[in-house]
Amino acid sequence: MTQPEEQNKIDELKDLVKGFPQEPGVYIMKNIRGTVIYVGKAKSLRSRVRSYLSQSKDLSVKTQFLVSHIHSIEYLLTNTEVEAFLLEASLIKKHRPRYNIRLKDDKSYPYLRCSKADNFPRFYLSRKVARDGSLYFGPYTSGTSVRETIKFLNQTFKIRDCTDTYMKNRQRPCMTYQIGRCTAPCVDYISEKEYAVDVESALELLRGQDQQVIDRLTAKMKAAAQEERFEAAAKLRDSIFAIEAILQK
Ligand code: SF4
Repeated sequence: MTQPEEQNKIDELKDLVKGFPQEPGVYIMKNIRGTVIYVGKAKSLRSRVRSYLSQSKDLSVKTQFLVSHIHSIEYLLTNTEVEAFLLEASLIKKHRPRYNIRLKDDKSYPYLRCSKADNFPRFYLSRKVARDGSLYFGPYTSGTSVRETIKFLNQTFKIRDCTDTYMKNRQRPCMTYQIGRCTAPCVDYISEKEYAVDVESALELLRGQDQQVIDRLTAKMKAAAQEERFEAAAKLRDSIFAIEAILQK
């Protein structure tokens, strides 16, 4: 493409992006052959996508190269950034866009880590991948989104959010247990086996095996209702609703 042609193309894309909403979602960039070359998430779709087309000297060489190959841009709206994050991850997995894959070479991008080797695993943000028995998901494009997703998983599946040292020194559960967001493995209120089921559900959600997660939570909810543990059943129902809200997108 000659320089004037490239400028025309960017001007056309700028006009297109003016119509993008200032809401959270995922944007999908395609090349002239219609191949998905980049997928990203944004708090405000219009502002984020416009920043690629600004032709500022601050853009990295990698980004400038990406921009020179964009032919069209589409978007999908989500209710929240967490939903956008999960949708971004599943689209990257599906399309394996060329410029997202290149990010994998950059060690500073955040990963979502599950410390599977622990008796009671938890989720962390990690900027490096080690052979330590943990499971790593990513890399992702935003640390904030990784943190929000960890928060969502912890709350939905009652996974501990404390450090190992803090957990080892507890005589009583902390406030997270009191507000129903942790099953208190610190004081053995839950067995390793039961806790592992909750962690596995969170991992299934990250892997996109959503129906298995919903089926398991539904079975647990029905069992709790039959045993007249209505508060526990209501919490499980809320978790199912939260997951379904994400899946609808
Ligand atoms: S209840 Fe126990 S395991 Fe759960 S977050 Fe608090 S200290 Fe950690």
